[in-house]
Amino acid sequence: MKITLLGTGSPLPSATCAGPSTLVQAGETNLVIDAGRGVIMRLVGAMCPPATINAVLLTHLHSDHICDLNDIITTRWISSPSATPLPIYGPVGTQKMMDGLLAMLDHDEHYRLDHHADLRAGVGMKVEVHEVQPGDTIAIGGVAVGIHATDHRPVTPTIGFRIEHNSVVAAIAGDTIPCDGLNQLCKDADFYVQTVIREDLVRMFAPHIPIGDRFLDILDYHSTVQQAAQTATQCNVKTLVLTHFVPAIQPGQEDEWRSMAAEHFTGEIIVGPDLTSVEK
Ligand SMILES: [Zn+2]
Ligand SMILES: [Zn+2]
Repeated sequence: MKITLLGTGSPLPSATCAGPSTLVQAGETNLVIDAGRGVIMRLVGAMCPPATINAVLLTHLHSDHICDLNDIITTRWISSPSATPLPIYGPVGTQKMMDGLLAMLDHDEHYRLDHHADLRAGVGMKVEVHEVQPGDTIAIGGVAVGIHATDHRPVTPTIGFRIEHNSVVAAIAGDTIPCDGLNQLCKDADFYVQTVIREDLVRMFAPHIPIGDRFLDILDYHSTVQQAAQTATQCNVKTLVLTHFVPAIQPGQEDEWRSMAAEHFTGEIIVGPDLTSVEK
């Protein structure tokens, strides 16, 4: 199993970090978890052509996690010789979001169908939307995906994905604070991918920006670097992978973030720029 951080950013614009998205490749199966800003550019950077995506999994419907989902849908469709419908798994609410997204893409779909005979012969720009709930297990190719509840309130529902293939387990947590559901998601996992914030930096920057109070609100519903490390220890995780850096990580700062986590977790800690990957 190979995990690639397609985007390590957050809603805060960054010139170097794409929006939140993670690629999990297991056997012949390619899964994209969340679809933030620039996801298609990073998929190409990861040498994973959009046409080979088997499914998209959404942890929640915050804009930073879905804002380039449209690009995956259209690019996969028009770059595939015979595109099959794209399965999209997400929490309750995903169907409503997709109805709006497909309405946005309606003109484009018809332009392309009118222009290209081979696209007309296919199934059109189709998606299969599956709303999933904690306790569900889904099979995609040879990969099993367990759905677990996370806690990103007031955003609800939110879910994490426990992805298993050939006895290797990756827990993709999304935005969440520590909670029982997260512990179940991560138990004994080989990889635990957690979106994190630096509370010290958020508190330092907030007084100096016009939206300082709103910036402080993000502390309510994200794991800090230390909390992610504590969860990793509590759950007997082998490798902790940090992503969704708030504020955006600057080149050269990785060791500082890593050492903050290492105070609470003695296993392997991955803090990388976009396109960092780990494999087992
Ligand atoms: Zn987020
Ligand atoms: Zn969020």
